[in-house]
Amino acid sequence: MAQQDDIFKKVISHSKEYGFVFQSSEIYDGLAAVYDYGPMGIELKKNIRDYWWNSMVKMHENIVGLDAAIFMHPTTWKASGHVDAFNDPLVDNKDSKKRYRADVLIEDYAEKQREKGNKEVKKAKKRFGESFDEAMFRQTNPRVVGYAAKANDAVKRMAAYLDAEDLEALKALIEELEIKCPVSGTGNWTEVRQFNLMFGTKMGASADSSSDLWLRPETAQGIFANFLNVQKTARMKIPFGIAQTGKAFRNEIVARQFIFRQREFEQMEMQFFVRPGEEMKWYEYWKDTRYKWHMSLGLNPENYRFHDHEKLAHYANAASDIEYKFPFGFKEVEGIHSRTDFDLKAHEAHSGKKLQYFDPEINERYTPYVVETSIGLDRMFLLIMCHAYREEEVNGSKRVVLGIPPMLAPVQVAIMPLTKKDGLPEKAREIMEDMKYDFNCQYDGKDAIGKRYRRQDAIGTPYCITIDPEGMEDDTVTIRYRDSMEQARVKIADLRGLIQDELSMRTHLKKILKKESVAQ
Ligand code: ATP
Repeated sequence: MAQQDDIFKKVISHSKEYGFVFQSSEIYDGLAAVYDYGPMGIELKKNIRDYWWNSMVKMHENIVGLDAAIFMHPTTWKASGHVDAFNDPLVDNKDSKKRYRADVLIEDYAEKQREKGNKEVKKAKKRFGESFDEAMFRQTNPRVVGYAAKANDAVKRMAAYLDAEDLEALKALIEELEIKCPVSGTGNWTEVRQFNLMFGTKMGASADSSSDLWLRPETAQGIFANFLNVQKTARMKIPFGIAQTGKAFRNEIVARQFIFRQREFEQMEMQFFVRPGEEMKWYEYWKDTRYKWHMSLGLNPENYRFHDHEKLAHYANAASDIEYKFPFGFKEVEGIHSRTDFDLKAHEAHSGKKLQYFDPEINERYTPYVVETSIGLDRMFLLIMCHAYREEEVNGSKRVVLGIPPMLAPVQVAIMPLTKKDGLPEKAREIMEDMKYDFNCQYDGKDAIGKRYRRQDAIGTPYCITIDPEGMEDDTVTIRYRDSMEQARVKIADLRGLIQDELSMRTHLKKILKKESVAQ
């Protein structure tokens, strides 16, 4: 774990040093859990957003986009349930004065139990070798069974107490499980209290409370409120989806772990409207498709898992998280939720406007059901950074390299004249002028070539193109590959074609839609 902590610290400092992420308002000592994206960060973020957008809107004839305002009529949040129910249970440790989410403390406890079980399995695997039957061992080994039962029992009880809003029982459970504050090491806890996560603000100069507004805590409600506007103007037929990316705001109780949990962050959400009764089919479809999106980036499947929810939100009849193994453990990056007709019905009730759909195929009018996919752009960014960061020994010295999927790299092609003489810079400029229409290019003419390669490695540039005197004679350059560090001499005329395939979203998007797609 210490090693993992260390890696996470390195990712954070590397992000700052190379212009990916800065603490907000750093000159004023920073603002907690708010971050700014620098020149490299903004490119990576934009590329991730574009890849998501293309996979949704460009690839599906029945998904269209929307950009709703952050401010919405305050009744929106009454209808959605956020005013009454968008709470987290918080608890303080009296000795360390540190604040925690009570549910997270219990989930962490359960995870620890599961890890203990996994350790037993690992040991047994080593001992028994080839003949080891893992499934059987998990079912029958008393210690492993015991750990799993402890974990499941804790999570089940927590879900029941949260549902019943029984905060006293929740506190008693924390005590019974002997959960200690990691800072003070004591179990000296305050009462558990509910805390609403929405940020309030005011519109206009009026002091009366009718002008009280909320900063949206999710982008989804802008989609629901516009359901009919979009359906009618874009002539959409069910099933269809509306996609949106944009800022959301949550007054998080515990905001550690860098950009993983921020108070201002960006979501990429798609609400898919379906016939009532067909939601489970679509829920499974989107779970599968979204997992494929992650895999299409070449990320390691061993670092992924689904977590199906025990405790469902007030609007859902099924929910699953896609979790990634960050250096601080498996955590949610994306949620797939079957939201039923809760939201549209609630907005109907509060606005007095019908939000229904007439289905010509079955000659029926109904309120559609909704399956949502919701991913945090900043969390995906952090996932890519954690996946990408590597330190390697090269000829006795260290190189830090970001193995960012080439298509997402902030700089895709670095163009480097070997020296500043013999027309090399002019040739390099000529190549850059041609390539910049297709790729993110950076001209890099300063310092020794080795130093330039390291600089590009550190920001994750997949291709470095070097123009040297030899190539001036036969119109060639060398291309140096980030991951293998191999170099090859290629014709300038072939350069674009050579790298196009890997850098274009086309190849990756095809991987997601490879199987016959039901959502076309
Ligand atoms: P968590 O359990 O981590 O608080 P959540 O279940 O409340 O997350 P959702 O409401 O499902 O999250 O939001 C969808 C996605 O938005 C999450 O999967 C996550 O990627 C992102 N997200 C949510 N809260 C934050 C935050 N405070 N900072 C950054 N990203 C966030």
